[in-house]
Amino acid sequence: MFNTIAHTLSDQTLSLDSSIQLTIKRLDQIHPQISGNKFFKLKYNFLAAKQHAKNTLITFGGAYSNHIAATAYAAHRFGFQSVGIIRGEELAKKPLNPTLATAQQFGMQLNFISREQYRLKNQREYLAELETHYPNSYIIPEGGTNQLAIQGCSEILTPYDRENYDVICCAVGTGGTITGLIEASTAHQHILGFSALKGTFLNDVVAQLTSKKNWKILDNYCFGGYAKTTPELFEFIESFEKKYQIPLEQVYTGKMLFGIFDLISKGYFSENTRILAIHSGGLQGKAAL
Ligand SMILES: *Cc1c(COP(=O)(O)O)cnc(C)c1O
Repeated sequence: MFNTIAHTLSDQTLSLDSSIQLTIKRLDQIHPQISGNKFFKLKYNFLAAKQHAKNTLITFGGAYSNHIAATAYAAHRFGFQSVGIIRGEELAKKPLNPTLATAQQFGMQLNFISREQYRLKNQREYLAELETHYPNSYIIPEGGTNQLAIQGCSEILTPYDRENYDVICCAVGTGGTITGLIEASTAHQHILGFSALKGTFLNDVVAQLTSKKNWKILDNYCFGGYAKTTPELFEFIESFEKKYQIPLEQVYTGKMLFGIFDLISKGYFSENTRILAIHSGGLQGKAAL
């Protein structure tokens, strides 16, 4: 399904005043609606839903979730019904933001639930209840992270990438994407994650998902927490976009690239390190934020 709609990708090497080589892998260009890492996270889940003859996809997310937007479009495109369970019951009374409006336009039924109820999102009983309510449904967890998502994300790196880069950088939300990259990496590569969330807990999450050790997730470029921003971050994004003609957003890729540039300037990477930074997309959310 998904491979037939993928656009050809181009990698862009930036000119830097440094011996470090920084190349951006433009996953944001893979598809206008199923953008970036979400393409890889969803592909095998949709295949599994089809193989099991499910007709409805159910998934979870916040009001600005790129995963919700991508799932709604993919469901529409490949002939499934979709249900989005959205965190925050107060949103039901407000006009929909662009992310949710787009999801609804693609036919997603939006169910707004309280934060307390949302916390049950991985509990067996709650999921069984959902399956009773929506017969013949396939449930994808929040952010789309499960084993099939990791399998999909392990296809992000090409054989060329495995040979020709020393460090792979990516933004981290739920940890599925970085786990796929870790699984696909060679022993001489290091995978460096930039957490979009505050705290080091994502290191524990990912350690549960892989037995490899050639990786680390930093949380000191999260700018105070998920979707939090500062004028300095916006200034960085603006100057980066102007200089390199590559769009960034402020939740994931802007913070990752801010972090990479900061680490380069502090001498974190050894000379001549070849870095591949994954542009994981998310630009639909830029307009919405
Ligand atoms: C969802 C998302 C991420 C986080 O991916 P995880 O697999 O949840 O860690 C990173 N970047 C962008 C642009 C995203 O939309």
